[in-house]
Amino acid sequence: MPSTPLAPHQIERLLEAARSAQKRAHAPYSRFHVGAAVLDDQDRVHAGCNVENAAYPLGMCAEAGAIAALIANGGTRVLALVVVGDGENLVTPCGGCRQRMREFAAADTPILVADRERVRARFTLEQLLPHGFGPENLKPGVPNLLGRSE
Ligand SMILES: [Zn+2]
Repeated sequence: MPSTPLAPHQIERLLEAARSAQKRAHAPYSRFHVGAAVLDDQDRVHAGCNVENAAYPLGMCAEAGAIAALIANGGTRVLALVVVGDGENLVTPCGGCRQRMREFAAADTPILVADRERVRARFTLEQLLPHGFGPENLKPGVPNLLGRSE
């Protein structure tokens, strides 16, 4: 079942939340501030920012924080994600965060990559994580959010 297209006001809410979170990122080591926001199945927006740690491997991505906030607030599905970062190159979700999305999102879930001014690119989860491993691999009968069985 295809996802409902994002409305412009939903995109604006996601951008605003992700940009606010980006400003609060804890990134004293990389100085690379990232914000993210996800839209849940109740039309609520949850934001996260990257949180670095002096013990480097413990740093956490903005997308992971946004997804954790969604779950902590009772959301069950990610209907869209916006990630905001600076620089010349697109700040796309890392491989780990693509997999985190896979747990709660559908193949056609939009992932928007933005900077402080504009949306620079738009992908679907399947474009960023083709043939992903998901919950249905471990639990027969769990619906395949990618909408197909292989
Ligand atoms: Zn990540």
